[in-house]
Amino acid sequence: MNDVVAVIGGGIGGLTAATALAAQGFAVRVVEQAPEFSEIGAGIQLGPNLLRALDHLGLRDRVLANAWAAPNLRVNDSVDGQPIDCIPVGDGFRERFGQPYALTHRADLLATLQEACQANPAIELMTGCRVDALHEESDRVVIGLAGGETLEAPTVIGADGLWSRVREHVIGDGKPRVTGHIAYRGVLAADDVPEDLWSPDMTIWLGPRTHLVHYPLRRGTLYNLVAVFHSDRYTEGYDEVGEVEELWRHFDGAHQSVRALLERIDVWKYWVLCDRLPRRGWTTGRMTLLGDAAHPMLQYLAQGAGMAIEDGLRLALELARAEGDPQVALPRYEEQRVLRTGRAQIMARLYGEAFHADSVTRELRNEMLRARTPEQSWDSMAWLYDHDPVAREPQVA
Ligand SMILES: Cc1cc2nc3c(=O)[nH]c(=O)nc-3n(C[C@H](O)[C@H](O)[C@H](O)COP(=O)(O)OP(=O)(O)OC[C@H]3O[C@@H](n4cnc5c(N)ncnc54)[C@H](O)[C@@H]3O)c2cc1C
Repeated sequence: MNDVVAVIGGGIGGLTAATALAAQGFAVRVVEQAPEFSEIGAGIQLGPNLLRALDHLGLRDRVLANAWAAPNLRVNDSVDGQPIDCIPVGDGFRERFGQPYALTHRADLLATLQEACQANPAIELMTGCRVDALHEESDRVVIGLAGGETLEAPTVIGADGLWSRVREHVIGDGKPRVTGHIAYRGVLAADDVPEDLWSPDMTIWLGPRTHLVHYPLRRGTLYNLVAVFHSDRYTEGYDEVGEVEELWRHFDGAHQSVRALLERIDVWKYWVLCDRLPRRGWTTGRMTLLGDAAHPMLQYLAQGAGMAIEDGLRLALELARAEGDPQVALPRYEEQRVLRTGRAQIMARLYGEAFHADSVTRELRNEMLRARTPEQSWDSMAWLYDHDPVAREPQVA
């Protein structure tokens, strides 16, 4: 097998797909628009399903080397400051799911994937190449780059993210939905976090139409903060400097611990959070989508990258199973992935509503979460965390 597979986009999904494809004997060309492979300066949660997929690629321990292992996922009410839930994610969790829960810096995750690609002679990494046009012929796809140059490949994977050019060509269903949820992100040096506010846990403070997440990063040397609120003022934008006054207005009634943490960050970067409803049709004869290009979701389940990584692995296995024939493999891949990723898209929306509940809904949420045992909390996530992308879904081809 030595067909070249072109992967458009060198983010977490694209670089994982390249590694997985090369492991199955394919030659891969990654075409990235940015001058270098890079991730934004913020944290990312690595669920056990994501780590299981990386384990299959031999990359899990390298990723864990720089990560933080929180003992608990802690949920507090940011109106009255009271604890709502505390889910242990230490040894018992690891035993239950066969993998840990970890927190890491996005740049560290991407660097591990990039190093794996660079070390593999079957993978060619191209940067500074923006894909502008695609033209599918009977035996190949012609890829037009912004500078006028063209490339060709028999199989093309669109791993080009939320604003995917490949999706425009394959599905053509317009822009993603602007949800009105805005994320402000900041990272502190651990020494800048007041001692009484530092916690080894991944902590979420839930408030009406707001929440704050914080956790340590990079073996505890950094502290990641993500503050989310609702606003109709933003239409598009990411990684841009946010207005501190606006953040303060939304967190006006939040508990004093939340406000004390928010105060420590001088420069916030904001993201307008977008998603889509699940749908089929990611695949034409020789092209398919993965990651945010295929199924963008809100961040409330902390699973967008997890789904992209699972996609990459499953895609490579399907191409190998079909001996490199995209017309056989790509529809199978989509069928294997569409319900699982669709469930994550829908559940992320529902979790968002529960996170930001007010009034009686807030009281009910707190009552229900407080009544759960740790085992019940784990069981509620089993559909997500138990998944192994190497095992095919039994009910589909
Ligand atoms: C606030 C927030 C918190 C999150 N937290 C988590 C979390 O804790 N855990 C988790 O699993 N997920 C989380 N996610 C989701 C996760 O970040 C994304 O789902 C994931 O990064 C998607 O990866 P991707 O490779 O599909 O897309 P991207 O990371 O967007 O990569 C796409 C790549 O394609 C390139 N590209 C785009 N267009 C072109 C073109 N025309 N030509 C060539 N290259 C192109 C881009 O430059 C980029 O490098 C979070 C998201 C947000 C917004």
